[in-house]
Amino acid sequence: MGYREITIKLPTDYDDASLNSAIKKNLQIGNFSKIIEKKSLDARKKENIHWLLKVAVSSDELKGGESPVAESLSIPFRQREKTALVIGTGPAGFFAAYTLQKAGFKTKLLERGKDVKNRKNDIDLFERTGHFVKNSNYAFGEGGAGTFSDGKLTSRTKKISKEKSFILNTYIQAGAPEEIAYMTHPHLGSDNLLIITENLRKQFIYLGGSVLFDCSVTGINTKNGSVLSVETTEGKIEGDVFLFATGHSSYETYRFLIKGGVQYRNKNFAIGTRVEHHQELINEAQWGCTSLQGVKAAEYRLTSSMNKELPVYSFCMCPGGKIVPAAPYSNVNIVNGMSLYNRDSPYANSAIVAGINLEKIYNRNFDPIESIEWLENLEQSFKIDDFKAPAMGIDDFIRGTKQGSLKESSYPMGLIEGDFKEILPPFVSLALQRGLRDFSGKLKGFEKGTMIGLESKTSALIQVLRDREGLADGFANLYINGEGSGYSGGIISSAADGIKGAMAIVGKF
Ligand SMILES: Cc1cc2nc3c(=O)[nH]c(=O)nc-3n(C[C@H](O)[C@H](O)[C@H](O)COP(=O)(O)OP(=O)(O)OC[C@H]3O[C@@H](n4cnc5c(N)ncnc54)[C@H](O)[C@@H]3O)c2cc1C
Repeated sequence: MGYREITIKLPTDYDDASLNSAIKKNLQIGNFSKIIEKKSLDARKKENIHWLLKVAVSSDELKGGESPVAESLSIPFRQREKTALVIGTGPAGFFAAYTLQKAGFKTKLLERGKDVKNRKNDIDLFERTGHFVKNSNYAFGEGGAGTFSDGKLTSRTKKISKEKSFILNTYIQAGAPEEIAYMTHPHLGSDNLLIITENLRKQFIYLGGSVLFDCSVTGINTKNGSVLSVETTEGKIEGDVFLFATGHSSYETYRFLIKGGVQYRNKNFAIGTRVEHHQELINEAQWGCTSLQGVKAAEYRLTSSMNKELPVYSFCMCPGGKIVPAAPYSNVNIVNGMSLYNRDSPYANSAIVAGINLEKIYNRNFDPIESIEWLENLEQSFKIDDFKAPAMGIDDFIRGTKQGSLKESSYPMGLIEGDFKEILPPFVSLALQRGLRDFSGKLKGFEKGTMIGLESKTSALIQVLRDREGLADGFANLYINGEGSGYSGGIISSAADGIKGAMAIVGKF
């Protein structure tokens, strides 16, 4: 059996039969098996937009070549008498717990929110009636912040390839489309994530793990650098090793960890808004036409260095998506973006944020608790009229005028007019003004969009002092992983960080 890897260019509306004939023609063979390794859209020339597929072909008619053996994560199993407590069922917490359970620990997952079905009901109720459910919302609950998301599975670091393929394969086994293994911009969509999250939990329980919902951890009990137990709303729970993967919205968790001796430092983060456009406008700007057979919806990624100190960039673009009220607490108002697998809503949204560093901007030291307070105050200041989102036309913001009225939007809680020059910190609004002007020159019609709400959750604003795998400085058995640690951002990198923490525990306990 011979093996060859080839790259094939195909029209956007190709089908499997046309892929097979392209392989036959390219390699001059009749019978073969194939695996798509990579699929990316080449839209550099609007008059010639096409897919590029890297395909691995095996056939008796081919001579030579060896299929590469992919490196995979190996989790050594042995029955262990140790109890591992993992706090948080987001990507980091789930994959940490799953890895620990596979390695033979007695693993307990503690989650402040509800299981994914009940969480979905609470979110639907919130959007219908404005009734905010504590601990069961877009930020908190089973699956973490990424459950009601676009489910983009991209990650920029190349250092996590073993973990990444383990995560993608686990998602596929739990019901994700197989294409996530090869698309250059894979995404799951919130509809798939609901099913996947439930299936993953069932698999974890099948392996012997246990999950406690509606269980908020409220403190740690320590002795001589070891955590003995955690205080929870369900009472004290003891364990041998503790892994916190509580995300970056859980402000009271930061506070009790700091009180318990965990050390943090400030880091760069980003603040801005979501912008929304008609998807057809984005398609037209990127493709030169309003739709393209075989491609769901056009994406964009924009960066601007017009403002030297505060770089402005787009983040977490959700084509064919919806802007959502993502507040973790009832006294704050922030937004985020999500989509379904088909990405077929008429709207495109994206965060447009300015990268900031509080210590540089204010030219003084910030205590980590002070940084959290700074952010909380900003998030509270956007709670002007319940969960309505302050909004403004991009064009008006750039020109400093008030001309257009607010456009229709996907945001379910309603919009109110808000002047972003007044409500954003001045240094952020100045940077955004320059950045948005720049983007309007780069992407045709960008200025026609609307700025909606506060985006404050692109990454954590503080970072724990820990080793590479997550062991907190000064502790023997306390790991801090995922987005809340300040070392990861997004679904894949947070899940990978959770796995790294778990593998360190496997090697040590
Ligand atoms: C609407 C939205 C859309 C997004 N879209 C994408 C996307 O398309 N692609 C992408 O890569 N990323 C996306 N993100 C970001 C991504 O979701 C996060 O980076 C990722 O979920 C972080 O994973 P984590 O496990 O570290 O933390 P989280 O997902 O935040 O999970 C933390 C968990 O801990 C629980 N918890 C917190 N405190 C406690 C406590 N004291 N006791 C018990 N439980 C606690 C929370 O309820 C939560 O379940 C999106 C985020 C949002 C909000």
